Amino acid sequence: MKREEFNFINNYLNELALYIFKSNDIEKYYYNFLLLNDKYYDYIKKRYFSESNTYNCNTRDNNLEFSDIISIAREIIESINTDYLKEFDSLLDNGRLNFIYEDKYTTSYVEHVRKGNIWEKNINIGRYYNYTDVELLIHEFMHYVSGTGFGFKNSVVTEFISIYFELYANEYIYKKYKPNLNEISYNQRLLSNFERSKELCSTEVPIFIYSRFGNLDKNSYKLFNKYIFEYTKKNYENECKELLKFIQKDDKICSNHFYQMAMFLAFYVRKTNSMKNVIRLANDYSLPENQRLNIFEELEKYNIHIDADIYNVLFDAIDEYLDIFDEKKKQR
Ligand SMILES: [Zn+2]
Repeated sequence: MKREEFNFINNYLNELALYIFKSNDIEKYYYNFLLLNDKYYDYIKKRYFSESNTYNCNTRDNNLEFSDIISIAREIIESINTDYLKEFDSLLDNGRLNFIYEDKYTTSYVEHVRKGNIWEKNINIGRYYNYTDVELLIHEFMHYVSGTGFGFKNSVVTEFISIYFELYANEYIYKKYKPNLNEISYNQRLLSNFERSKELCSTEVPIFIYSRFGNLDKNSYKLFNKYIFEYTKKNYENECKELLKFIQKDDKICSNHFYQMAMFLAFYVRKTNSMKNVIRLANDYSLPENQRLNIFEELEKYNIHIDADIYNVLFDAIDEYLDIFDEKKKQR
């Protein structure tokens, strides 16, 4: 790849860092998130999966019926914000909530469908046949209410909102319905989310290297491998070309890491802020992308403060959350 092309990527990522973190000191923020992820991955795996370290979520242990899923979801939505119930019911009435029945792992997503001049939104849920279906429904429903979620710069905030309420739903279900741990998949999904960062998808290797060294060129990969042994066998040159294509074409990057960041923010805010603020954020989050502030400023507008000591608090925040599901600590 040519030097100008590397420069183009470097400038883009630098701008992005400034936009997201108010600072181009991307290493301080982004890279720390990644390190934290690796630590937590091992920790959670040990804590939850020492005996059976499989996390196949596709279980029919509860075999929840469609009507069960809907009624539990309604209950949770009502407890979040009664105004959301009307929206949820109209979604049902208009047949815009679909379940996907497949034995293999399926994804859940909000789908935008064009009907004449208007865009309609559908929610599609890949079924797990247990309480996970409810959690996924809450996650996707929050995407449905909190704006389009299109675009790379939006994705951290919208994903944060959805994961925040997914954590809430999981806790709600666990406390009220008292399922066994193998009947809710959230902690298993959690682990697989942490694992995502270990499986870098296309374009992520250069982003990772950039976040570590603040610069990409044709020699970066060598330097990178000196620090992080054989992190990936992917072809660095090709990854950089892919990334360039993404930026030039869509101005957005597919990145598991940003999902990870959203997850950490969700844990942190769950511990340090009130749900009211997150609901306000979700209700307002429909400004055009170019009118938005960076993530921290955006959250600040809703009194959601992200302090500099987020990394220390995060450990407690995640621990505290996992304690809820700890069989030894639980008091029922
Ligand atoms: Zn999502």
